Amino acid sequence: METRQYPHRRFNPLTGEWVLVSPHRLLRPWQGKVERLPEDQRPRYDPDCYLCPGNTRAGPVRNPAYQSTFVFDNDFPALLPEAATFPGESSALFRSEGEPGRCQVVCFSPRHDLSLPELSVSQIAAVIGAWTEQTRLLLEDPGIAHVQIFENKGELMGCSNPHPHSQIWATCHLPNEVQKELDHQRAYRERHGSSLLLGYLAQEQQRSERIVCANQHFTALVPYWAVWPFETLVLPHRAAGRLTDLNDKEIDALADLLKRLTTRYDNLFQCSFPYSMGFHQAPRTEDAGDFQLHMHFFPPLLRSPVVRKFMVGFEMLGMPQRDLTPEQAADRLRESSEVHYKEDRR
Ligand SMILES: [Zn+2]
Ligand SMILES: [Zn+2]
Repeated sequence: METRQYPHRRFNPLTGEWVLVSPHRLLRPWQGKVERLPEDQRPRYDPDCYLCPGNTRAGPVRNPAYQSTFVFDNDFPALLPEAATFPGESSALFRSEGEPGRCQVVCFSPRHDLSLPELSVSQIAAVIGAWTEQTRLLLEDPGIAHVQIFENKGELMGCSNPHPHSQIWATCHLPNEVQKELDHQRAYRERHGSSLLLGYLAQEQQRSERIVCANQHFTALVPYWAVWPFETLVLPHRAAGRLTDLNDKEIDALADLLKRLTTRYDNLFQCSFPYSMGFHQAPRTEDAGDFQLHMHFFPPLLRSPVVRKFMVGFEMLGMPQRDLTPEQAADRLRESSEVHYKEDRR
């Protein structure tokens, strides 16, 4: 066995955590057979969908006949503004505090049947525009310190409604992952005098083996420390803390990159590729200047539309582990077409 194939662990400099990589378990050639799922027969409009235009939502609320994106406060929010008055505890062993915040839903378009890769670049730019505007509005509230934008796509990820939409959870405190990433980016700046993610991008551009696709302003790559089989990281080419720091050209470029990346995902197993994805952007804290805007895609699929990765056993008790290397995953995503398979068939 080549020494390159030996089990090893890789360090995630954003979180300070490790992942175990066991490439020797995949030495056998790729078993190319891919099961097909029955074609998704979603209608353009579903009268029973609470996200479609004109339909009734919770109680008496009715959606407007929206034409583009549509943003509203979640009718069943995980966070409430009035939680500030929660009577917490502050002893060493019993500690709790109120988490005031807000939850919103952003529908991508009126179409019940079109996910991100099936929208046009300008429609995706409108979605990014809506995320940007909500980030700006939510951070005007002094009680909000962090804005988390994310999409759970597919039943496999526990998505409760197939109408393409994303969520925004705005909190008064920093979530764990964001706090870790802020601390590590700040420490990196103090130690090396430069930006962790801009430095990382520059080195990945030189090595090029993990880059999936890119344009003038953004790059999508499989990070060296990826945990999920086809995990990717989307990075801007210059320093930017939040979506609100991007100009119109950069928003268009991000839309272009998202269409190309998510099309590659769908084409990989010719299915609507499930994932949890989201932005990490600078929280409103002192000294968040080191925080670089980026996106994570965490897809669970491993070998086919029905074989997924689970975090069990060693992964729950010890640390995450993978067989397929990030380099192999990047190869497969690069081989995947940027013409959507459904379009190909038309
Ligand atoms: Zn719908
Ligand atoms: Zn992140």
